Amino acid sequence: MVALSGQSGYHSQRSMYLKRLDVQGFKTFAQKTSLVFVPDSAGRRGVTAIVGPNGSGKSNAADAIRWVMGEQSLKLLRGKKSEDVIFSGSYKRARSGFAEVTMVLENDDKPDLQMTEVAITRRLYRDGQSAYEVNRQSARLQDVVMLLAQCGIGQRTYSVIGQGMVDHVLVASPAERKEFFDEAFGLRPFQLKRQAALNKLDASRENAVQTEILLREIEPRLASLERQVKRLEQRETM
Ligand code: ATP
Repeated sequence: MVALSGQSGYHSQRSMYLKRLDVQGFKTFAQKTSLVFVPDSAGRRGVTAIVGPNGSGKSNAADAIRWVMGEQSLKLLRGKKSEDVIFSGSYKRARSGFAEVTMVLENDDKPDLQMTEVAITRRLYRDGQSAYEVNRQSARLQDVVMLLAQCGIGQRTYSVIGQGMVDHVLVASPAERKEFFDEAFGLRPFQLKRQAALNKLDASRENAVQTEILLREIEPRLASLERQVKRLEQRETM
């Protein structure tokens, strides 16, 4: 059994709530299905449990959450190819042409995001075409990852704890455990920005090396070109 918590953050000042999950054509969710994580009568958001027999598709709901958050690991998504997440058909229903998942988060207290509701969508077609959207506006994977990091939600650490992961945390290496704490302390957006800056720096370094090589190639011809220019100028003045 998989229990999906309706609350996606630990800190009160960072809490964002998983409000709804719309799933269509994703694994066993052939038709459009909305999982709504409603608060209790006192307005508290607690734990939502999905119960069903083995193999009925409970973990597929958790996979949908991982997937919409941009997960790229086929192993973690329990597939061999990307298109394995698309509903493959049953004796009653033809296979789907695409899979789409939308995760709606309620933003109670992150005014800097300027969104009261954050809807992240991921779509994949059988021909391999894929798209991400944030509030129905086209977005890149890195935008989604950054947005989730700003919301205090990470793909790989404690936001989605799958089967066997609790054991894994107990035996995790110090480096893996550090990732959990980094996420809990809200360091992820800064780490992502740092990595993006380092990547840019690497690209600039590479450009500088290429320019240097080009200059070294051109330099020997420069003297002869200058002589040619001088000769032409002299000819013009004659
Ligand atoms: P368990 O309790 O054994 O962990 P579960 O209830 O969590 O099971 P899942 O593992 O989520 O079940 O679901 C597995 C089911 O999903 C299998 O029956 C598998 O055939 C089905 N499934 C997986 N991918 C697809 C797909 N692309 N199209 C249709 N069905 C799929």
